[in-house]
Amino acid sequence: MLTARPLPAFADNYIWLIEDGRGRAAVVDPGDAAPVIAALEERGLELGAILVTHHHPDHVGGVADLCACHPQVPVYGPHDSPAACVTIALGDGAIVDVLGTPARVITVPGHTLDHIAYFIAGDADGAPLLFCGDTLFGCGCGRIFEGDARMMHTSLQRLAALPGHTQVCCAHEYTLGNIEFALTVEPANDDLRRRSETDRARRARAEPTLPSTLALELATNPFLRDGAAAVRAAAMARAGRELAHDHEVFATIRSWKDVFR
Ligand SMILES: [Zn+2]
Repeated sequence: MLTARPLPAFADNYIWLIEDGRGRAAVVDPGDAAPVIAALEERGLELGAILVTHHHPDHVGGVADLCACHPQVPVYGPHDSPAACVTIALGDGAIVDVLGTPARVITVPGHTLDHIAYFIAGDADGAPLLFCGDTLFGCGCGRIFEGDARMMHTSLQRLAALPGHTQVCCAHEYTLGNIEFALTVEPANDDLRRRSETDRARRARAEPTLPSTLALELATNPFLRDGAAAVRAAAMARAGRELAHDHEVFATIRSWKDVFR
């Protein structure tokens, strides 16, 4: 069984440390090598793999230093990545061996064009794990830098189709700000209000709000809720016109969030 824990990095990044319970580890999106090296030493772990979701420096910046210490470790990443550090290039549907457990690659362009996610199906002992980089966040989604809203919407829909008990391992601690926006879109959502209380209490204790579950995201995250009547109504009020398609609702909510303070 694999487990995952977030290693804080920079102001609000999480590098995910995956452990197999037998002394081996993999890391996802090591933007900085220092927290990874510290965690490996502290926990007595051998690094077996580096997984990269996309090319942004806060996700790949530590790869070179980690490879200098661990030259045999494979660096998995998108086949179309501009990042030079990727040694094993992956396309949609590729299966990667992560510490003896298969992970499936899901291409999720939108935040960047080269973005991929890694899905590890659970077994009887553990829940499925999703490492989604900057595509899906706690109660939010990534900004659209290289793709377009329709592309991002399709990517999020692919993630939304995964099992509800999937542990959602996002790359930033943005949850509280995202909840504030979500409550503006959907103020009467009781699941969202409960989440707001729970996650505020976690942050007050300096604990991460992640991983969340996909079921919680489906119940509270406006970027996965373009089919919900209240979200559609809020988007149409914002746009000032009828929005016939789910991707138009998504695009409206995403543009709204871009200017939300
Ligand atoms: Zn990014």
